[in-house]
Amino acid sequence: MTSTTRRTFAFADWTLRPDQDDDAPPLTYAFRCLTLTEDDSECPAKSPPSEDPTEPQTWAFDHMREHPEHTGYAEVIERPWVMWRGGPS
Ligand SMILES: [Zn+2]
Repeated sequence: MTSTTRRTFAFADWTLRPDQDDDAPPLTYAFRCLTLTEDDSECPAKSPPSEDPTEPQTWAFDHMREHPEHTGYAEVIERPWVMWRGGPS
């Protein structure tokens, strides 16, 4: 058992929270294609990240127009978080 080392990286005076400061990096959205190709690997196509959630959906329609059999997608959301010194206590 190695459970004695489990808490090594828990810094008591730091907390992790979503970064909602004015200068925080933006929340971004992207779509990626989940369709399996003939050799069973995932299609590598992915939209560029956008701050507008509808833009990657437009990309998905463009991608399906080029590859009509590619109908499975995943939305990838990047949400900035920040380490905050001093907890809420
Ligand atoms: Zn694809």
